[in-house]
Parts: sequence; structure tokens; C-alpha cells
Amino acid sequence: MSQQLRSAQTVVRPAAPRRCAECACRLSRYNEEPRCTACQRGLLHRQRSRPSVPAHVWADREVRLALLTRDFCRLCRLVRELGGLRQEDLSEMTGLTQSFLSMLESGARRLTNIDKIVRLLDGLDAPVELTGPMLRSARGAAAPPR
Ligand SMILES: [Zn+2]
Repeated sequence: MSQQLRSAQTVVRPAAPRRCAECACRLSRYNEEPRCTACQRGLLHRQRSRPSVPAHVWADREVRLALLTRDFCRLCRLVRELGGLRQEDLSEMTGLTQSFLSMLESGARRLTNIDKIVRLLDGLDAPVELTGPMLRSARGAAAPPR
């Protein structure tokens, strides 16, 4: 079966081999994507593993109110609902554990530790106009955009 397939493919081999858009390796004849399988997988992984909060979330009135009133329980819920994110995503973005975020959202825990607040806001990449520079990491403040 595979023997037959191989010989059939040899006949229709294209003249110029296509190359991966990312690593420039030769693409398999069977690959119709612009990238090789490894790069394609890497791209999907990067997209999946780097969730972010869409900009429209921060424009939402309720979100702004939650930030203003330091209602982090509500903030997390709203950001997840409006941003289409899972608790897992928030955990990955902020470095806070999922169980902590879950307790935070349910109201079982309150967020009072300033380092954790900064971690949350930094991880979610909340706009500095909303949080004020004090509630963001010094790393971000020390490096103004060029
Ligand atoms: Zn590649």
C-alpha cells in the first residue's frame, strides 16, 4: 500500500521544492501549508499557550468599574466572560494558581496582597491608564516604549 503510494508520488514530484516560511527547510510534498509540520505545530502551540485579553474588554464599563472599586472577584469573572478565556488561561497569564483564581472568583478569597494584585494586573496586561503606574511592575515602568 505505502509502496504503491510512494511510487505514484515520485512521478508527480514538483519541479521546485517549496520551503517552510519560518525555518526554510524543504517542505514535504504532502504538506500544503506554508510551514513545515514542526513549525506549524510550534505556531499553534504559541497561539494556544499565549492567551491574552482582547482590547475591547478594557473598554467595558463594568470592567472599568470593577477595577476602580478593586473588585477583583468581579474583574476576573468579567475578563474571562468578555475575553472568552478560561481560568487556566488566566492562571497561565498571571502565574497565579488556578485554585487561587477559582477561590477569588467565587468570592471565597479576597485579593489584598499588593504583589499578587500587581501580578494579576500585569499578567492580564491591564492598561496603565486604568490601573495607575503604582499597580504595575517596575520592570514595565522602567522601560518606556520607544
Ligand atoms: Zn519549518
